[in-house]
Amino acid sequence: MCGIVGYLGTKEAFPILIKGLHRLEYRGYDSAGVALVDKNGNLNVYKTKGKVANLEDYCRDKDISGTVGIAHTRWATHGEPSDKNAHPHFSQSKHIALIHNGIIENYLTIKSFLIEKGYKFQSETDTEVLVQLIEYVMQEHKLPLYEAVYQALTQVIGAYAIGVIEKDNPNILVTARTASPLIVGIGDGEFFLGSDASPIVEYTKNVIYPEDRQVIKIERGKEIEIRSLDKEELIKPEIKQIQLSLDDIEKGGFPHFMLKEIFEQPKSLSLCMNGRLQREQKEIILSGVRENIDKFAKAKRILITACGTSWHAGLIGKYLFETLCRIPVEVEVASEFRYRNPVVFKEDVLIAISQSGETADTLAAMELAKKQGAFIYGICNVVGSSVARLTDSGTYTHAGPEIGVASTKAFTTQVCVLAMTALAVAKELHTIKEEDYKRIVTELCNIEEKISTILKKTKEIEDISKIFTYARNFLYLGRGFNYPVAMEGALKLKEISYIHAEGYPAAEMKHGPIALIDEEMPIVVVAPHYDMYNKILSNVQEVKARKGRIIAIVTEGDVDIKKQADYTIEIPQTEECLSPLLTVIPLQLLSYYVAIAKGRNVDQPRNLAKSVTVE
Ligand code: GLU
Repeated sequence: MCGIVGYLGTKEAFPILIKGLHRLEYRGYDSAGVALVDKNGNLNVYKTKGKVANLEDYCRDKDISGTVGIAHTRWATHGEPSDKNAHPHFSQSKHIALIHNGIIENYLTIKSFLIEKGYKFQSETDTEVLVQLIEYVMQEHKLPLYEAVYQALTQVIGAYAIGVIEKDNPNILVTARTASPLIVGIGDGEFFLGSDASPIVEYTKNVIYPEDRQVIKIERGKEIEIRSLDKEELIKPEIKQIQLSLDDIEKGGFPHFMLKEIFEQPKSLSLCMNGRLQREQKEIILSGVRENIDKFAKAKRILITACGTSWHAGLIGKYLFETLCRIPVEVEVASEFRYRNPVVFKEDVLIAISQSGETADTLAAMELAKKQGAFIYGICNVVGSSVARLTDSGTYTHAGPEIGVASTKAFTTQVCVLAMTALAVAKELHTIKEEDYKRIVTELCNIEEKISTILKKTKEIEDISKIFTYARNFLYLGRGFNYPVAMEGALKLKEISYIHAEGYPAAEMKHGPIALIDEEMPIVVVAPHYDMYNKILSNVQEVKARKGRIIAIVTEGDVDIKKQADYTIEIPQTEECLSPLLTVIPLQLLSYYVAIAKGRNVDQPRNLAKSVTVE
């Protein structure tokens, strides 16, 4: 959450920083701000509540010159979204400015210490203590900025990615990270900072991914200098190439990133399966599984941990692994798992799922299980992210950058990776019959085409969506593999339309939610034609008897549910264990079009941010 950008070079920094903020706005949009050392040697900070566009307006009559600068788009953790809590924050003397993504956990202790020393605070943020502490260390110990940042950070507990500049030296930009994402771009005589690669990719592909507890000095005309807070000696920068193109991070003619990403799903699934699904031989080759099959073989159980949409993918993972591999699975939200002293055996396999690979609670859950000796298998989208680094093995989803705050293609690629992993494990452990394996793998080969067929129904789904903008509540029902899909459909609607929605196992409806049903209440029933069809048909009848309005997701050619439902959306037939990859598509479109009809900002829904790097 929250995006940071920085620039030091030969060009004017402001346009680069603003463009970078727009690219990172998915991470937070409570306020935005920029700091620049101008051509006359002033350190100017401009910041304002609201989105990056407000900041641009605010800066229209300001001096925005300068070839070094930092900028921030905030997702507030400490202190309400306001002008004064916006970053960058000034130090007391206004000689230093700082941006921060993360949480300083011991900020109250540091704040009391600094107040005693006579420091006055302008904001309610945890961040401000950092910039004041740096100034205190600088003045007290007569240190240059880089050394002062280094010393100050030795006193700090928490998560941070920071950028720091100073009035008296426009040739310096200092950055550091612990548990918050940071990329440093290295161009020709210029340097860039970004919370991800999107503000950098236009200018250079050469980047370094700083490790936790590293502090970096970027100095005009010099090589960058990296030190770890744990060891003072210099660390040699390891330059990597960004695997991202500009097209990936632009809307490409779609009105919103979310719609673009929904439509990208056939392509992102192809990329996800590329090199893993051998279409001619009808085989799945996952090196992460093959090389570690002994870990899966001796696992008495699999633990899956994740947050939000990734947790829903994890719930589908339970059905996949239990059905195909006959290994018991427990799925738990990472924030609960990490704090309840869970029982973890060293024979356990823990699968951690995170789109960004930076989700703070998921990372902490991984660390906990790792300490107790479990084998950690990571599933994430962002190459080189913290999940990827912490894991023993794993599989990237390769969905391409997901920018819409409501996750769509990340979810389907996660489910696809889970399906491929479960199939590969089942094959190795002989828990699946060869003909079943081949049949499911064959279906996987057809899945992108089937998603494309559903996407052709967009107009139909848009028309249905417009009818339900009046609703204050929605209920989503599903069974088996499609119960987590019902939860995911409800989450999508909540996130972007602000309509309250609940996802329920269809039969469980009788134990509570049925009381909500009346002629106003829309009920989305995910009811493709499998073994439980007649059971879900009964649930549909129970809803109908109470005059609920039914939108049903059914298999092509369905007869019985169609008779009961007010609206039906057909999806192609597929294997049951792969059906979530199809049933979720109309639910994504439904939530998108309900939100659009209600005039919501679907790419930047209120209070949410994309990558939850705070716990
Ligand atoms: N904790 C800081 C604040 O509330 C930074 C928030 C973030 O990283 O999203 O301003």
